Amino acid sequence: MTKKELERYDRQIILPGFGAEGQAKLKKAKVFIAGAGGLGSPAAIYLAAAGIGTIRVADHDTVERSNLNRQVLHWERDIGAEKVDSAATKLKKLNPGIRIETIGDTITGANVSEFIGDADLIVDAMDNLPMRYLLNLTAIKKNIPFFHGAVYGFEGRAMTVIPGKTACLYCLYHGATALKTRFPVIGVTPAVIGCIQATEVIKYIVGLGELLTDRFLNYDGLAMKFTEFRIKRDPGCAHCGKPPGR
Ligand SMILES: [Zn+2]
Repeated sequence: MTKKELERYDRQIILPGFGAEGQAKLKKAKVFIAGAGGLGSPAAIYLAAAGIGTIRVADHDTVERSNLNRQVLHWERDIGAEKVDSAATKLKKLNPGIRIETIGDTITGANVSEFIGDADLIVDAMDNLPMRYLLNLTAIKKNIPFFHGAVYGFEGRAMTVIPGKTACLYCLYHGATALKTRFPVIGVTPAVIGCIQATEVIKYIVGLGELLTDRFLNYDGLAMKFTEFRIKRDPGCAHCGKPPGR
Protein backbone atom coordinates (compact mmCIF):
# COMPACT_ATOMS: atom_id res chain seq x y z
CA MET A 1 0.00 0.00 0.00
CA THR A 2 1.26 3.44 -0.86
CA LYS A 3 1.18 6.35 1.60
CA LYS A 4 -1.59 7.92 -0.46
CA GLU A 5 -3.66 4.76 -0.31
CA LEU A 6 -3.23 4.44 3.44
CA GLU A 7 -4.45 8.02 3.73
CA ARG A 8 -7.38 7.59 1.33
CA TYR A 9 -8.68 4.49 3.06
CA ASP A 10 -7.71 5.47 6.61
CA ARG A 11 -11.23 5.50 8.02
CA GLN A 12 -12.03 1.97 6.86
CA ILE A 13 -8.57 0.57 7.64
CA ILE A 14 -9.17 1.45 11.30
CA LEU A 15 -12.33 -0.70 11.34
CA PRO A 16 -12.00 -3.69 13.70
CA GLY A 17 -10.79 -6.70 11.71
CA PHE A 18 -10.14 -4.65 8.57
CA GLY A 19 -6.63 -3.22 8.70
CA ALA A 20 -4.18 -2.69 5.86
CA GLU A 21 -4.56 -6.42 5.12
CA GLY A 22 -8.26 -5.96 4.41
CA GLN A 23 -7.49 -3.01 2.20
CA ALA A 24 -4.89 -5.05 0.31
CA LYS A 25 -7.56 -7.72 -0.31
CA LEU A 26 -9.87 -5.10 -1.82
CA LYS A 27 -7.02 -3.82 -3.99
CA LYS A 28 -6.35 -7.33 -5.29
CA ALA A 29 -10.02 -8.02 -6.00
CA LYS A 30 -11.70 -8.00 -9.39
CA VAL A 31 -15.44 -7.40 -9.38
CA PHE A 32 -17.82 -7.91 -12.29
CA ILE A 33 -20.87 -5.63 -12.26
CA ALA A 34 -23.59 -6.66 -14.69
CA GLY A 35 -25.39 -3.42 -15.48
CA ALA A 36 -24.51 0.27 -15.15
CA GLY A 37 -28.02 1.46 -14.33
CA GLY A 38 -30.00 2.03 -11.14
CA LEU A 39 -28.34 -0.69 -9.07
CA GLY A 40 -25.01 -0.66 -10.89
CA SER A 41 -24.48 3.05 -10.24
CA PRO A 42 -24.45 3.03 -6.42
CA ALA A 43 -22.77 -0.39 -6.28
CA ALA A 44 -19.96 0.79 -8.59
CA ILE A 45 -19.56 4.17 -6.87
CA TYR A 46 -19.16 2.68 -3.41
CA LEU A 47 -16.97 -0.21 -4.55
CA ALA A 48 -14.73 2.26 -6.39
CA ALA A 49 -14.61 4.53 -3.34
CA ALA A 50 -13.73 1.53 -1.15
CA GLY A 51 -10.73 0.75 -3.35
CA ILE A 52 -11.71 -2.42 -5.24
CA GLY A 53 -8.65 -2.86 -7.47
CA THR A 54 -10.47 -3.78 -10.67
CA ILE A 55 -14.09 -3.11 -11.53
CA ARG A 56 -15.36 -4.60 -14.78
CA VAL A 57 -18.74 -3.21 -15.77
CA ALA A 58 -20.95 -4.48 -18.59
CA ASP A 59 -23.93 -2.67 -20.13
CA HIS A 60 -25.08 -2.41 -23.74
CA ASP A 61 -27.33 0.63 -23.27
CA THR A 62 -26.93 4.30 -23.95
CA VAL A 63 -28.01 6.96 -21.46
CA GLU A 64 -31.57 8.26 -21.81
CA ARG A 65 -33.14 11.24 -20.06
CA SER A 66 -35.59 8.90 -18.28
CA ASN A 67 -32.63 7.10 -16.64
CA LEU A 68 -31.49 10.15 -14.73
CA ASN A 69 -33.91 9.91 -11.77
CA ARG A 70 -32.03 6.88 -10.47
CA GLN A 71 -28.90 6.02 -12.48
CA VAL A 72 -26.70 8.49 -10.67
CA LEU A 73 -23.48 7.66 -12.54
CA HIS A 74 -25.08 9.33 -15.57
CA TRP A 75 -25.76 13.02 -15.83
CA GLU A 76 -27.67 15.34 -18.18
CA ARG A 77 -24.56 15.82 -20.33
CA ASP A 78 -24.26 12.04 -20.89
CA ILE A 79 -27.58 11.58 -22.70
CA GLY A 80 -26.85 9.55 -25.81
CA ALA A 81 -23.47 8.29 -24.54
CA GLU A 82 -22.67 4.64 -23.85
CA LYS A 83 -23.48 3.89 -20.22
CA VAL A 84 -20.19 2.07 -19.68
CA ASP A 85 -18.21 5.07 -20.97
CA SER A 86 -20.18 7.48 -18.82
CA ALA A 87 -19.68 5.19 -15.81
CA ALA A 88 -15.94 4.73 -16.40
CA THR A 89 -15.37 8.50 -16.68
CA LYS A 90 -17.02 9.17 -13.30
CA LEU A 91 -15.48 6.22 -11.50
CA LYS A 92 -11.95 7.13 -12.67
CA LYS A 93 -12.43 10.68 -11.44
CA LEU A 94 -13.68 9.40 -8.10
CA ASN A 95 -10.75 7.03 -7.67
CA PRO A 96 -7.85 7.24 -10.16
CA GLY A 97 -5.99 4.52 -8.25
CA ILE A 98 -8.23 1.68 -9.45
CA ARG A 99 -8.75 -0.02 -12.78
CA ILE A 100 -12.08 0.26 -14.61
CA GLU A 101 -12.78 -2.18 -17.45
CA THR A 102 -15.83 -1.78 -19.68
CA ILE A 103 -17.87 -4.09 -21.86
CA GLY A 104 -20.44 -2.28 -24.02
CA ASP A 105 -22.09 -5.44 -25.37
CA THR A 106 -25.22 -7.34 -24.46
CA ILE A 107 -24.54 -10.28 -22.14
CA THR A 108 -25.69 -13.58 -23.66
CA GLY A 109 -25.34 -17.25 -22.84
CA ALA A 110 -22.59 -17.44 -25.45
CA ASN A 111 -20.40 -14.64 -24.08
CA VAL A 112 -21.22 -14.41 -20.36
CA SER A 113 -18.38 -16.67 -19.21
CA GLU A 114 -15.82 -14.78 -21.29
CA PHE A 115 -17.15 -11.38 -20.18
CA ILE A 116 -16.92 -12.32 -16.50
CA GLY A 117 -13.49 -13.80 -17.17
CA ASP A 118 -11.39 -14.23 -14.04
CA ALA A 119 -13.49 -11.89 -11.88
CA ASP A 120 -13.75 -12.93 -8.23
CA LEU A 121 -17.49 -12.39 -8.01
CA ILE A 122 -20.60 -11.13 -9.82
CA VAL A 123 -22.83 -8.22 -8.83
CA ASP A 124 -26.35 -8.59 -10.26
CA ALA A 125 -27.40 -5.09 -11.31
CA MET A 126 -29.74 -6.20 -14.08
CA ASP A 127 -33.43 -5.50 -14.58
CA ASN A 128 -34.85 -8.86 -15.64
CA LEU A 129 -35.02 -12.40 -14.28
CA PRO A 130 -33.78 -14.36 -17.35
CA MET A 131 -30.52 -12.40 -17.21
CA ARG A 132 -30.29 -12.87 -13.45
CA TYR A 133 -30.70 -16.63 -13.89
CA LEU A 134 -27.94 -16.65 -16.49
CA LEU A 135 -25.62 -14.81 -14.08
CA ASN A 136 -26.65 -17.07 -11.18
CA LEU A 137 -25.90 -20.20 -13.21
CA THR A 138 -22.60 -18.78 -14.47
CA ALA A 139 -21.56 -17.94 -10.90
CA ILE A 140 -22.29 -21.56 -9.90
CA LYS A 141 -20.33 -22.93 -12.86
CA LYS A 142 -17.38 -20.65 -12.10
CA ASN A 143 -17.75 -21.27 -8.36
CA ILE A 144 -17.71 -17.57 -7.54
CA PRO A 145 -20.22 -15.63 -5.37
CA PHE A 146 -23.27 -13.92 -6.80
CA PHE A 147 -24.72 -10.80 -5.20
CA HIS A 148 -28.36 -10.42 -6.19
CA GLY A 149 -30.33 -7.19 -6.02
CA ALA A 150 -33.64 -6.10 -7.52
CA VAL A 151 -36.00 -3.14 -7.24
CA TYR A 152 -39.58 -2.20 -8.02
CA GLY A 153 -41.09 1.13 -7.00
CA PHE A 154 -40.26 1.74 -3.34
CA GLU A 155 -39.39 -1.93 -2.80
CA GLY A 156 -36.19 -3.85 -3.18
CA ARG A 157 -34.66 -7.25 -2.55
CA ALA A 158 -31.20 -8.59 -1.97
CA MET A 159 -29.56 -11.97 -1.46
CA THR A 160 -26.01 -13.34 -1.53
CA VAL A 161 -25.20 -16.70 -3.10
CA ILE A 162 -22.07 -18.72 -2.29
CA PRO A 163 -22.03 -21.62 -4.80
CA GLY A 164 -21.82 -25.08 -3.27
CA LYS A 165 -22.74 -23.72 0.14
CA THR A 166 -25.91 -21.64 0.11
CA ALA A 167 -29.26 -21.37 -1.65
CA CYS A 168 -29.12 -19.78 -5.10
CA LEU A 169 -31.48 -17.48 -6.96
CA TYR A 170 -33.06 -20.43 -8.77
CA CYS A 171 -33.72 -22.20 -5.43
CA LEU A 172 -35.70 -19.07 -4.57
CA TYR A 173 -37.67 -18.39 -7.75
CA HIS A 174 -37.64 -21.80 -9.52
CA GLY A 175 -37.33 -20.23 -12.93
CA ALA A 176 -40.29 -17.87 -12.64
CA THR A 177 -40.09 -14.80 -14.84
CA ALA A 178 -41.89 -11.50 -14.94
CA LEU A 179 -42.84 -9.56 -18.02
CA LYS A 180 -40.26 -6.92 -18.84
CA THR A 181 -42.16 -3.70 -18.75
CA ARG A 182 -41.54 -0.05 -17.97
CA PHE A 183 -41.80 -0.58 -14.22
CA PRO A 184 -41.96 2.28 -11.70
CA VAL A 185 -38.94 3.10 -9.55
CA ILE A 186 -37.80 5.98 -7.35
CA GLY A 187 -34.03 6.51 -7.34
CA VAL A 188 -33.55 6.03 -3.60
CA THR A 189 -34.66 2.38 -3.85
CA PRO A 190 -31.78 1.13 -6.04
CA ALA A 191 -29.48 3.32 -3.93
CA VAL A 192 -30.47 1.34 -0.82
CA ILE A 193 -30.26 -2.06 -2.53
CA GLY A 194 -27.08 -1.28 -4.52
CA CYS A 195 -25.41 -0.23 -1.27
CA ILE A 196 -26.51 -3.46 0.41
CA GLN A 197 -24.93 -5.39 -2.48
CA ALA A 198 -21.72 -3.34 -2.20
CA THR A 199 -21.67 -3.92 1.57
CA GLU A 200 -21.93 -7.67 0.99
CA VAL A 201 -19.13 -7.58 -1.60
CA ILE A 202 -16.81 -5.70 0.77
CA LYS A 203 -17.61 -8.07 3.66
CA TYR A 204 -17.01 -11.10 1.44
CA ILE A 205 -13.65 -9.88 0.14
CA VAL A 206 -12.31 -8.68 3.46
CA GLY A 207 -13.83 -11.63 5.35
CA LEU A 208 -15.99 -9.74 7.83
CA GLY A 209 -19.41 -10.26 9.37
CA GLU A 210 -22.24 -12.53 8.29
CA LEU A 211 -23.31 -12.64 4.67
CA LEU A 212 -26.89 -12.39 3.45
CA THR A 213 -26.91 -16.08 2.57
CA ASP A 214 -29.75 -18.61 2.90
CA ARG A 215 -31.93 -15.61 3.57
CA PHE A 216 -33.55 -13.06 1.43
CA LEU A 217 -33.95 -9.43 2.47
CA ASN A 218 -36.99 -7.43 1.42
CA TYR A 219 -36.94 -3.65 1.76
CA ASP A 220 -40.20 -1.72 1.76
CA GLY A 221 -39.44 1.98 1.56
CA LEU A 222 -43.06 3.10 1.98
CA ALA A 223 -43.59 1.18 5.22
CA MET A 224 -39.85 1.63 5.95
CA LYS A 225 -39.44 -2.01 6.89
CA PHE A 226 -36.73 -4.55 6.27
CA THR A 227 -38.08 -8.13 6.36
CA GLU A 228 -35.96 -11.24 6.22
CA PHE A 229 -37.05 -14.61 4.82
CA ARG A 230 -35.13 -17.84 5.38
CA ILE A 231 -34.35 -19.66 2.13
CA LYS A 232 -33.45 -23.34 1.97
CA ARG A 233 -31.21 -24.75 -0.67
CA ASP A 234 -33.26 -26.98 -3.00
CA PRO A 235 -31.44 -30.32 -3.53
CA GLY A 236 -33.27 -30.68 -6.86
CA CYS A 237 -32.48 -27.13 -8.00
CA ALA A 238 -31.89 -26.92 -11.77
CA HIS A 239 -28.93 -24.60 -11.14
CA CYS A 240 -27.21 -25.64 -7.93
CA GLY A 241 -28.61 -29.15 -7.30
CA LYS A 242 -26.41 -32.18 -7.85
CA PRO A 243 -24.70 -32.76 -10.20
CA PRO A 244 -23.60 -29.11 -9.97
CA GLY A 245 -24.34 -26.78 -12.82
CA ARG A 246 -26.98 -29.00 -14.45
ZN1 LIG B 1 -30.22 -23.44 -6.41
